[in-house]
Amino acid sequence: MFDLATRDIKYLSGVGPQRASVLNKELGIYSLHDLLYYFPYKYVDRSRIYYIQEIDGTMPYIQLKGEILSFETAGEGRQRRLIAHFSDGTGVVDLVWFQGIKYLVGKYKVHQEYIVFGKPTFFNGRINMAHPDIDSASDLKLSSMGLQPYYNTTEKMKRSSLNSHAIEKMMNTVVQQLREPLPETLSPAILAEHHLMPLTEALVNIHFPANPDLLRKAQYRLKFEELFYVQLNILRYAKDRQRKYRGYIFERVGEVFNTFYSRNLPFELTNAQKRVLKEIRKDVGSGKQMNRLLQGDVGSGKTLVALMSMLMALDNGFQACMMAPTEILANQHYETIRELLYGMEVRVELLTGSVKGKRREAILVGLLTGDIHILIGTHAVIEDTVNFASLGLVVIDEQHRFGVAQRARLWTKNVQPPHVLVMTATPIPRTLAMTLYGDLDVSVIDELPPGRKPIVTLHQFDSRRISLYQSMHKQIAEGRQVYIVYPLIKESEKIDLKNLEEGYLHVCEEFPECRVCKVHGKMKPAEKDAQMQLFVSGEAQIMVATTVIEVGVNVPNASVMVIENAERFGLSQLHQLRGRVGRGEHQSYCIFINGSGKKEALERLNILCKSNDGFLIANEDLKLRGPGDFFGVRQSGDFEFRLGDIMNDANILKQASEAVELILNEEVEISDKQCKIIIEYENDSINI
Ligand code: ADP
Ligand code: MG
Repeated sequence: MFDLATRDIKYLSGVGPQRASVLNKELGIYSLHDLLYYFPYKYVDRSRIYYIQEIDGTMPYIQLKGEILSFETAGEGRQRRLIAHFSDGTGVVDLVWFQGIKYLVGKYKVHQEYIVFGKPTFFNGRINMAHPDIDSASDLKLSSMGLQPYYNTTEKMKRSSLNSHAIEKMMNTVVQQLREPLPETLSPAILAEHHLMPLTEALVNIHFPANPDLLRKAQYRLKFEELFYVQLNILRYAKDRQRKYRGYIFERVGEVFNTFYSRNLPFELTNAQKRVLKEIRKDVGSGKQMNRLLQGDVGSGKTLVALMSMLMALDNGFQACMMAPTEILANQHYETIRELLYGMEVRVELLTGSVKGKRREAILVGLLTGDIHILIGTHAVIEDTVNFASLGLVVIDEQHRFGVAQRARLWTKNVQPPHVLVMTATPIPRTLAMTLYGDLDVSVIDELPPGRKPIVTLHQFDSRRISLYQSMHKQIAEGRQVYIVYPLIKESEKIDLKNLEEGYLHVCEEFPECRVCKVHGKMKPAEKDAQMQLFVSGEAQIMVATTVIEVGVNVPNASVMVIENAERFGLSQLHQLRGRVGRGEHQSYCIFINGSGKKEALERLNILCKSNDGFLIANEDLKLRGPGDFFGVRQSGDFEFRLGDIMNDANILKQASEAVELILNEEVEISDKQCKIIIEYENDSINI
């Protein structure tokens, strides 16, 4: 049989060992199967040709058919560019390139018919198209082109000429070979029940859809398949857990908890915090293992709930552990919790990758003897060498960064699994959370601590920068700190990083009195932490960053969040970013700089200017983007699915989990092939 999984990508025509190695490293593509499952992130309708006279200022990518009248070079240094005056008889467009000038002049001929494809923009009264795609008109059969797929590529790939076009060509070669259908991965009953397109047809159509309808059907089928296996995994695992494990019983509320409550607690708990603590108390006393998801908007006070739950464990003779996704966050929790427990006889230690040598040894021993009561750390706490005397409760902060497989590793630390509390600020509608997590109960903190000054949220066009900078100077002079965030989108990492670097230099010039630190995802962790630390300690007044600061950073003194090109972020992401300010007693501000000037962008940003409620925003986001947003760039979300998107595909998720329930309840046998796929998904450790 034609087995795609075993066919090495390097033997595909046009690939070879060098490009194969780039594909391995950059995208994890090793086989033809991997390649086929690398899906486009957008499609562009190439079935229509526009006339130049039709072009107005609002058009997305379009194609034109005509000829180059003449070439011209203009500008100096970095501004040097090649301009080709292109006409179809109804007008002229300037095609502009900033790179590869010599090559281009040799490649394209004057007075030959070409099809150019790009985004038209107006500049000084002329229509421009920067770095367009050009094909000879005789090479393209337009009627059969339909929707053209676009694939994400990285800078390293582009250096090996592996751009979207190249991937498209490779994909085409593979699809041509799919004469024999691939083995179906869903049972005939499920296919029929849910009207799903057969696998092979779906794979062909997701890459080369003849029309939007076929594309939708293909996407539906493949999303269904993905979510089906994710659900099968989760629900099977949940059943297994319920069958196998009993939970520790914390029956006492004892000295540690009570001392903390009466002597150390710096403020009154909010009603929501009290309610959630009651829910947790009930769980840990029930004899079943707790597995609870705690959702609470940024700043709602989840840490305190975590700490008080841990104290319940301590009162019953158990240890507790809290895990954060980054060193910075782990450090922060450690400091906060030590401060909150001041004067109490509770030993708290911090374990991260940078705790080494003797210090690490001492911690490992302390955990085994039970001298350490609370351990706070990063992934380092789930390493095999870390063992507890009696671990009773684990808290996982910002849990979406940890996969199911990682969570499972926690239970193997004990014969009996500890209670688990996972905390997240990602606002997922409750019903969706229940389906998605399957085995988790959900608690919600739906109230902010009293006395918070609402963050003043504004949106501003680029032109108002000067007055914005004046306000920033003023805040900094008053002792506050400022974040400036730049978007980072995979499609053009290099340009984005350039934006960040240029922004950084610009900010340094504009704010000579300040120390400015800089953080982005491409930095080495140690370097990143060092820069973050500068801001946390207050040595730096301004932090220029990409979205890496999105999760959990707590600098109460920071009062201004400026987000550049805010129109390029998803609403929920903007809300998370905004949550980095307004954490202290100072009036805080969030300023969205809108680089597009478009009406829709304005409407979207206005939702945030009006509301501070994460759940409302998530729902609005969903409404605005709508399920049919297949031309759009996918929002880089918290849940990494290949294709499915739990916000937009809630309905498919529901269908898929119903199908899974049927299988699990009726104990329908699953085929070997399905077992194999489940294992692959498990190994992929899809982040949930
Ligand atoms: P998050 O839910 O985003 O993790 P934190 O736990 O970091 O929020 O809490 C945000 C801030 O609110 C902290 O400075 C914390 O001390 C404070 N806080 C938490 N609970 C209360 C409360 N009940 N009353 C007043 N302030 C509180
Ligand atoms: Mg937090």
